[in-house]
Amino acid sequence: MGKVLIIGAGGVGTVVLHKVAQNPDVFTEIMLASRTKSKCDVIAADVKARYGVEVKTAQVDADIVPELVALLNDYKPELVVNVALPYQDLTIMDACLEAGVNYMDTANYEPKDEAHFEYSWQWAYKEKFEKAGLTAILGCGFDPGVTSIFTAYAAKHHFDEIHYLDIVDCNAGDHGKAFATNFNPEINIREVSQRGKYWENGEWVETEPHEIHKPLNYPEIGPKESYVIYHEELESLVKNFPTIKRARFWMTFGQEYLTHLRVIQNIGMARIDEVEYNGVKIVPIQFLKAVLPNPGDLGENYTGWTSIGCRIKGLKDGKEKTYYVYNNCSHEAAFKETGTQGVSYTTGVPAMIGAMMFMKGLWKKPGVYNVEEFNPDPFMEQLNIHGLPWVELHDVDLEL
Ligand code: NDP
Repeated sequence: MGKVLIIGAGGVGTVVLHKVAQNPDVFTEIMLASRTKSKCDVIAADVKARYGVEVKTAQVDADIVPELVALLNDYKPELVVNVALPYQDLTIMDACLEAGVNYMDTANYEPKDEAHFEYSWQWAYKEKFEKAGLTAILGCGFDPGVTSIFTAYAAKHHFDEIHYLDIVDCNAGDHGKAFATNFNPEINIREVSQRGKYWENGEWVETEPHEIHKPLNYPEIGPKESYVIYHEELESLVKNFPTIKRARFWMTFGQEYLTHLRVIQNIGMARIDEVEYNGVKIVPIQFLKAVLPNPGDLGENYTGWTSIGCRIKGLKDGKEKTYYVYNNCSHEAAFKETGTQGVSYTTGVPAMIGAMMFMKGLWKKPGVYNVEEFNPDPFMEQLNIHGLPWVELHDVDLEL
């Protein structure tokens, strides 16, 4: 059915490749390209051994548009799945426009020199993609991604108006390390150490980092201290579902993690500007990434579960209604299937399903769209088939 190019050979790229290879009826030709080709070759060999599927590999620096255009013109994919870093979103979108290729990603654009992410940069490409007759699907991981689709599904089937949306993200897993991040450390530390922000009554309310917190109960896990942080899907969800009065994002952190994070910040290792060391310019957070455990390698001893979902309150047929939809994912099961941990898995599976939606023509419209702007039903169906089953609870205590 379709020819796909995956860019980025980290934890998430590994899962996308496994899942794409498990669906040869949809993805008929596959290429994995990244900055370091040897990493692509290792993953491609594993996939070949497991599923007998041939994967082409290539080297590309996705910061450089002409390099990307040359690769796209040579391979001629129908869709690029960008699971490199958010820094590369715009260059890959530019290259897709130049080469006439459709685009998908899992994280919104961030400039390297500013810890700040918002959709405006990518939404600005809407007209260009429309004119080119190309589809760009933004934010198709778990959060953003599945959480946005959960919200769209709730709006379509269970609510006339959504008023309160709380996205709850719990990682109750244990990787046995004193400190490690579950996805790219640079991106992760930038995200969780920034000021908190949530939407209320038509405006953004800012908080100190981790200022608002409370224990929330997660299904089959129990209570975990959860903190309000800013997360990118809030920006598109309050725009696409304007009845929302308040939208917040909660993430669990252990005390050990927060202590390490505070120390990392206090000693300057989270800095994103250049410092001079022994006559060489280095960016402390990039150096830190080099010494921290590689998130893609955490899987082997990872035990426990992730639990991510949406807790929603609103109106249906004039009556107040509450609704909780979530997925629990086992780190051990993720490792057994793909050799990676649950956070890479919960991101990579939805990315494959988004690509499948595109290839099947179900999510195909010229322009730039967040995932909640497409029909959620076929996507929800595929989540149950491909390893991320979901559970719905109606009229329950949301604790929020
Ligand atoms: P990793 O750091 O493990 O992998 C990133 C990959 O991108 C590496 O293979 C890296 O190459 C490659 N890369 C980096 N820069 C370039 C470049 N200039 N050109 C080509 N390739 C490049 O990250 P993860 O796999 O953990 O995360 C991937 C993406 O998924 C990130 O954007 C992250 O924000 C997003 N994500 C989204 C989530 C969601 O739920 N929506 C959750 C978790 C992650 P090299 O190996 O040479 O360093």
